[in-house]
Amino acid sequence: IHDITPLSLAIAVIGLLVIAVSAFVIQKYSVAIIENKLLFVIAMIVFATSWGLLILPSQELDVLLFIALICKLIVYMTCIHLVNSVGRIQYEALIERINTDFLTQLSSRTAFEKSFDQSFKAAKNKTIQLAFIILDIDNFKLVNDTYGHLIGDAVLKEVSHAIRENIVNYKGAELFRIGGEEFGIILENTDYAEAQKMSLNILKAVNELSVKTDKGTFGVTISIGVAEWHEKDKTKEMFYNRAESYLYFAKNNGKNAVTVDGVIVNR
Ligand code: GH3
Ligand code: MG
Ligand code: MG
Repeated sequence: IHDITPLSLAIAVIGLLVIAVSAFVIQKYSVAIIENKLLFVIAMIVFATSWGLLILPSQELDVLLFIALICKLIVYMTCIHLVNSVGRIQYEALIERINTDFLTQLSSRTAFEKSFDQSFKAAKNKTIQLAFIILDIDNFKLVNDTYGHLIGDAVLKEVSHAIRENIVNYKGAELFRIGGEEFGIILENTDYAEAQKMSLNILKAVNELSVKTDKGTFGVTISIGVAEWHEKDKTKEMFYNRAESYLYFAKNNGKNAVTVDGVIVNR
């Protein structure tokens, strides 16, 4: 048992304080510390030195032993940190990949399912007004059959871009690729009028696309169904299906059309 002197007590208290503060800082800025090597080394040295300060008064250590002890702790912490951060970075990359469509870089079907579910619940709880727009490229199989799959892929990218350009200014609008040549827009706090305006702008933008190929230039059209959530949509499937039925209505009535609440609005 060593005597507790005011000096040893002061050193221990300082060590404790530095440990507490550095633990807080490391936890708060963990991402920056993982990504910046210099920050990581500084954080480890501060953490280990403060731990050394804490145990210093209780042991009779010479300077070399003290340094060796701190280094040992740094090595331990670095190993634990490495294992954790590699796992975390891989996990985050995987989640990002699952939520992003590889071809168009839009949010994926998986991301859509989650967002649609959340928005639907919020609409049912009356915390938001909700509209859903479903869009499907017309005669896309013909594009693939005539010009090949690579041109088909290029069309998907161009159409994605055209749609995205028309929703960037809307707060609460999120675009997804929900199927092969099918897209969905979840629109929070927007009414039929705005959803209709957005859809007509998208229809126009897609009509203006001109795809150049070796076999000539061709245009693209799209059909769109727009539904606003209503009490009668008891489940999210009912809400989705209603929007989809409007899309089919546009398809069955000459395509290149927008159906809002069962009525074609662009003719
Ligand atoms: P409709 O106007 O009724 O929508 O007819 P459609 O030809 O657009 O629809 P259909 O469902 O018959 O065909 C969709 C095609 O989309 C079939 C499929 O090969 C193609 N497709 C799906 N995903 C991709 C993709 O990632 N790349 C390419 N190039 N084609 C795709
Ligand atoms: Mg289609
Ligand atoms: Mg389709």
